[in-house]
Amino acid sequence: MEYETVIGLEIHAELKTKTKMFCKCLNNAEETVPNKNICPVCLAHPGTLPVINKKAVELVLKVGLALGSTIPEFSKFDRKNYFYPDLPKGYQISQYDQPLCQGGSLSLYLSDDLEESTKEITLTRIHLEEDTGKLIHPADGKSTLIDFNRAGVPLMELVTEPVLHNGKEARLFCQGLQLLLKTLAVSEAEMEKGQMRCEVNISLAPKSKVKSQKLGTKVEIKNLNSFKAVEEAIDYEIQRQRELLEKGEKVVQETRGWDEARGKTYSQRIKEEAQDYRYFPEPDLPPLTNISKTFDLEKLKAELPELPWEKKRRIIKQFTGQATIGLTTTLERKPINIFLEHPEYLQFYEDTINELKNEKIELKKAQVLARNYFLTDIIGFMEKEKIKWEDSKLIPLYFAKIISYLVQDKISSRVAKDILLEIIRTGKDPEKLIKEQNLETISDIGLIKSIIEEVIKNNPKAVQDYRNGKETALQFLVGQAMARLKGAANPQELGKLIREKITG
Ligand code: ADP
Ligand code: MG
Ligand code: ZN
Repeated sequence: MEYETVIGLEIHAELKTKTKMFCKCLNNAEETVPNKNICPVCLAHPGTLPVINKKAVELVLKVGLALGSTIPEFSKFDRKNYFYPDLPKGYQISQYDQPLCQGGSLSLYLSDDLEESTKEITLTRIHLEEDTGKLIHPADGKSTLIDFNRAGVPLMELVTEPVLHNGKEARLFCQGLQLLLKTLAVSEAEMEKGQMRCEVNISLAPKSKVKSQKLGTKVEIKNLNSFKAVEEAIDYEIQRQRELLEKGEKVVQETRGWDEARGKTYSQRIKEEAQDYRYFPEPDLPPLTNISKTFDLEKLKAELPELPWEKKRRIIKQFTGQATIGLTTTLERKPINIFLEHPEYLQFYEDTINELKNEKIELKKAQVLARNYFLTDIIGFMEKEKIKWEDSKLIPLYFAKIISYLVQDKISSRVAKDILLEIIRTGKDPEKLIKEQNLETISDIGLIKSIIEEVIKNNPKAVQDYRNGKETALQFLVGQAMARLKGAANPQELGKLIREKITG
């Protein structure tokens, strides 16, 4: 039997506010001293009262506006009751039936795959709640410590409809959301630091011709702390459920954890139902009314920065001259995401192109060269050598000079690569470097020809091999000549000259 997989995500993100959600304590994720940022409100001392952090509401509204959600005029907070030691009040202030944002969608815009990247994932809602404290389990196994620094930190929760189909789609959604949250400066959203946390809900149901009405029993997987974990846990779980169903067994509705080392999910607890939480309106907080006026939604919307998918369109236009992604090739699309995810790279590239505009060279050719050298040589090299971006001493002006020399055939690609690495480390001016080390491509055709003659004379076997049709023999001869010229020649040109000489 064929099965259809459906996946829905619940994503939490810690909001980047100065203070906590309902008190004046600092919201500082970097705080290392336990229980430093606490007060009677976030410790739930009797008689204390919460006060809504307006900034936190505004940040959630920004996300909703960016994703096209409906923002109602009225919203309220509710108590979600459950007992756990990291929750001082014995309930969490959250939102139940009247969240800040309803609906909206996010496309899988980061995908290189055309069809995938235009897929719109519909959202159910985005609401605001508070985070819990952290339990620390010392190695002695005899005690548990509680750090309440995180208790009461504003937390956004975004819920999608069950419309995703596999691990990769879920990963792309999470990555796209993370980039949005960073762009909006709403959250640092680092999964490894727990600032963004994903829970995935997965179910399988027999595939049917009619749009299947009934979804299968869902399993929820918690504590996924990387994009890789999201993708792998889902793909493992789909397989596990399929095997159960194929054996005629039932999937148990439960919460499972992800064991990264074993690459498996494991049962944690049987899932609670909404009624177990005994939700009711928070009596200590006023509801939010007249939201569009109170938060000046029009202004908030107008002030949104360029959104990542808009930026992607702009980069595509700039890189390929094409108005829509549909007209680009996969090869053209691939590098765009790297620039999209690293605004500092894009800025450097754009500054380089501006410098190149002052040169009398073919700009289009220069742009393509600049992108290729940037991604393979600069970024590739820095990753290999573990050099941080902010430690590179290469400035756009110097990179532009190198690209310009390349376009004019003044230096060879070998030389360009070598001096790029040197400048990243030293910050030297390429013009000086080329002069000092005599790296300019030798255009003295007389000298080149005499070296070619020598190479041909000294390598009769390779010459014969080439005459007998062995193509690689020519590369060998080019290499020999290039070595004599210290790399300062154009290899294509050399090859052409040698071939002419031999085949005469
Ligand atoms: P709960 O109350 O258990 O948290 P919700 O109905 O609020 O469940 O849904 C939580 C998430 O689970 C949402 O992202 C939703 O899209 C997803 N979901 C709901 N039912 C299913 C299902 N049968 N299979 C997969 N995902 C589901
Ligand atoms: Mg849930
Ligand atoms: Zn406090």
